[in-house]
Amino acid sequence: MVNPLAYLDQELNELREKGLFRWPRLLEGPQEPVARYDGREVINLCSNNYLGLANHARLKAAARRAVDELGVGSGAVRTIAGNMAIHKELEEELARFKHTEATLLYQSGFTANAGTVAALLGKDDVIVSDELNHASIIDGARLSGAEKKIYPHKDVAAARRLLEASRGARRTLLITDGVFSMDGDVAPLPDLVALAEEFGAIMMVDDAHASGVMGQHGRGTVDHFRLHGRVHIQVGTLSKAFAAQGGYVAGSRTLIDYLIHRARPLLFSTSHPPSVAASALAALRLVQEEPELIERLWDNTRIFKQGLNELGFNTGASETPITPVVVGDEQLATDLSDRLFTAGVFALGIVFPTVPRGKARVRTIVTAAHTRTHLQRALDAFAKVGRELRLI
Ligand SMILES: *Cc1c(COP(=O)(O)O)cnc(C)c1O
Repeated sequence: MVNPLAYLDQELNELREKGLFRWPRLLEGPQEPVARYDGREVINLCSNNYLGLANHARLKAAARRAVDELGVGSGAVRTIAGNMAIHKELEEELARFKHTEATLLYQSGFTANAGTVAALLGKDDVIVSDELNHASIIDGARLSGAEKKIYPHKDVAAARRLLEASRGARRTLLITDGVFSMDGDVAPLPDLVALAEEFGAIMMVDDAHASGVMGQHGRGTVDHFRLHGRVHIQVGTLSKAFAAQGGYVAGSRTLIDYLIHRARPLLFSTSHPPSVAASALAALRLVQEEPELIERLWDNTRIFKQGLNELGFNTGASETPITPVVVGDEQLATDLSDRLFTAGVFALGIVFPTVPRGKARVRTIVTAAHTRTHLQRALDAFAKVGRELRLI
């Protein structure tokens, strides 16, 4: 009998031959700045746990209380019977936080992007999108059936040409990541917003990596650039700095009312367990009460980035806690990552197709929870391995 899945073996073998077969390292224990992966205690420069809240006592207590009082599951999608008071409480708190009329929770940042883009645009529409936008934006664009027009990274003049050429479209969406996840650079949001206004386009920003990181109290790039009221749709995540799980859209009441009727992840997938909403709420309150968390994140970012630069590493265009060490060659990036791990530092090698060919890198992310000693030990390991590989 033929095995109709035989092609999977072939494709996996090809990956093995190219040295691209990967299995994620196993985290044994909680997500912490020093953690045990694959049996080895390492300084963790891979997580998006920016503020160190993933194992925080207050968030854990909130989750535990929610389990005791509300159980472990919501039991249905929001629009049937799973619309819990704690979801509404979190949405109202998020709307106050973001200074928008309303917000809508999704199960993840991924579904927030994909579900929203697909609900708002259709086949007579155009989506103008940065080439480095997140996969969930690309999937949403595909699902929508709209025409996709991709501009080179952060190229505002190219975006303008695409908008000009789209004047005949029924509707146009201009969409960008606020902070780009592989390079750690920031979108030219004021210029893009001005373009969207000039051409009457819908402006949407994915602030997954800016949530809890940029702007006052981590309100995101719209706050950072003082663009309140000029970005129609903001997506945020609760899965990174806010250390829980989920995504949300922030915007007008009308936008949210529409999405409640049309966003498919909301209509066809069960809502958050109450404990997840409870820990996100606790995180949201904590970042507003303890602004020193975000200050520490940025202090650590400056120290670590400066340390890497002084050693002679190329950290690319990074302006945020996401700091790539760009080495170019794919094998070199993998070797650097592997040797760092042996030296006690976990920093992931990132190669094509996640980043363009010749731009392979090791990506680092420091958190507020790393101590100066952790950062120095990590820099010492980078210095040692960097010299071994003749990178510096
Ligand atoms: C992580 C990420 C997402 C997805 O968020 P999740 O909450 O993890 O699903 C969306 N956009 C960008 C830019 C991201 O980095």
